[in-house]
Amino acid sequence: MQILDGKIVSEAIKINIKDRTFLHKKNTGITPHLAAILIGNNGASETYVASKIKNCEAVGFKSSLVRFDNNVEERELTNTIDKLNDDDAVHGILVQLPLPKHINESHIINLINPKKDVDGFHPISIGKLVQGIETFVPATPLGVIMMLKHYNIETVGKNAVVIGRSNIVGRPMSILLSANTNPGNSTVTLCHSRTKNLEKICAQADIIVAALGIPGFLKANMVKEGAVVIDVGITRVADDSKKSGFAIKGDVDFENVAPKCSFITPVPGGVGLMTIAALLENTLKAAGAK
Ligand code: NAD
Repeated sequence: MQILDGKIVSEAIKINIKDRTFLHKKNTGITPHLAAILIGNNGASETYVASKIKNCEAVGFKSSLVRFDNNVEERELTNTIDKLNDDDAVHGILVQLPLPKHINESHIINLINPKKDVDGFHPISIGKLVQGIETFVPATPLGVIMMLKHYNIETVGKNAVVIGRSNIVGRPMSILLSANTNPGNSTVTLCHSRTKNLEKICAQADIIVAALGIPGFLKANMVKEGAVVIDVGITRVADDSKKSGFAIKGDVDFENVAPKCSFITPVPGGVGLMTIAALLENTLKAAGAK
């Protein structure tokens, strides 16, 4: 069993991005700039946005954070997105999800200029992804693909099972794995909360991507010997032994599943770090760099 180490791979990608950013600045005078919009004070969202901004600085990007209270009016958000769309010095815009209930999430995402849609959530980005046209790919599934590529994991003709059908992880993941690309060309089964015989389906998989948000859901009896297991799940579970008061848990029962795998990602230290690397890659692309 080999660990797919998100720290090692994401650091290598970030060094490459830093070098390309330096060259891009030198050749064009353009510094990639990511603008993040954060609403409310959800602890996990705060952590994710802080990490995205810190990583922007680390690779030489500019970043800005626009914050709103939980009771922000939708109009204020739309005005902010309009301004960021019009600002030529801003190349990427992300709205940290989830949004408060009174805000229409798809309305907000649809307002982002697709040329600045570095999260890849805009319907135009998703439509292009489905058609195999070059576009911004949602950062988490793109990070998984980068990880598979880095470790030369064979996906062609493999049975891949994706658990979870969200627009930001599971569904785009299933599209990428089934695309006529490498990595890709897998035979994909997309499972969700209404799937029957999930255990049986998983037990036949060569590759499993667990993205449902239920800690320890994927058990050893659901995994065949030699499978590749990618754990996307991130859930905060109360843990008094930690200074923060919580531990981060993935969707895989790692201790019992890992011995059966050929490759497996840990949580933390796996897909989460790759997501940030993929977001940086998208932002560099939005700034016009190769
Ligand atoms: P979501 O809640 O939008 O979707 C969950 C999906 O899981 C749904 O499609 C649902 O049908 C499916 N599901 C729920 N219960 C199930 C069950 N019992 N059996 C089969 N399928 C079931 O979640 P999301 O936004 O896609 O996130 C999923 C997980 O990934 C969460 O833990 C989230 O925190 C994590 N996440 C991690 C990263 C990262 O960078 N590593 C990024 C995004 C999300």
